[in-house]
Amino acid sequence: MPELPEMVIIAKQMNQTLIGKVVKDVSIFQPKCLNRPAKDYQKFLPGVQTERISSLGKWIRIDFHGGMRLLINLGMGGEIVFLKRNQNFPDKTKFALQFRDRTGFFVTLWWFGYIHLVRKDENHPMTDTLGPDPLSLTCESFIKLLENRRGEIKSFLLNQKRIRGIGNFYIQEILFRARIHPRREIGSLTQYEMKSLFKMIQTVLNESISLGSSSYELDFFGEKGQYGLNQISIGYREGGSCPICQSQIEKIRTGSTAQFICPVCQKSI
Ligand SMILES: [Zn+2]
Repeated sequence: MPELPEMVIIAKQMNQTLIGKVVKDVSIFQPKCLNRPAKDYQKFLPGVQTERISSLGKWIRIDFHGGMRLLINLGMGGEIVFLKRNQNFPDKTKFALQFRDRTGFFVTLWWFGYIHLVRKDENHPMTDTLGPDPLSLTCESFIKLLENRRGEIKSFLLNQKRIRGIGNFYIQEILFRARIHPRREIGSLTQYEMKSLFKMIQTVLNESISLGSSSYELDFFGEKGQYGLNQISIGYREGGSCPICQSQIEKIRTGSTAQFICPVCQKSI
């Protein structure tokens, strides 16, 4: 599932490739991922020019000159991929944009996902309510976010309304490097642990961005990133040993997700 680093890389690549192109055709194969009738997409997009592409947590935001905006969320395993000149999109495509220069991009969605069309000045509840960008936070403002919050630290960090862009892939490395058990109560974290958590959030996400993001996901050109098993300390190594203390790595359930931990480095109390 693409998370913040993947979306940062895709937005950067889209910015380098698509700016200034004029939309020619819109193809829609899964109307349930839209927020308005398909005919509105056909009406408002052809003829408009791309202005800027950015990421917002797990969302891609495409701004067009003239005031329209597309907001794309790939859900649990979708892809957004560039179409070379005159290249046809694959059968699994759910949505595609083609430009006048005969390039374009297509979107695939595996389980759920959203391709929403809004005016830039229009409310969009799903992105308007996202929490802050973890890479723009200061340590102080991060600690403030945790103040008076109850519940387990992992569910807090995965809640996109509290902080945006972190999912179940990066959270495991972040919590391991910060030596924090995923089920720790927020209120039980010491100042030192909160600082260390903040530092590891930024370190892990930035490390992945600098490596072109995850090797389990495809970028805008259909290539895999370089952030893979060499960067992951304990994730996906059930039965392996902790690189710090050599204890056996465990896989535990945390709410609806699974997580790898070192039971010695990441104490549950
Ligand atoms: Zn350990």
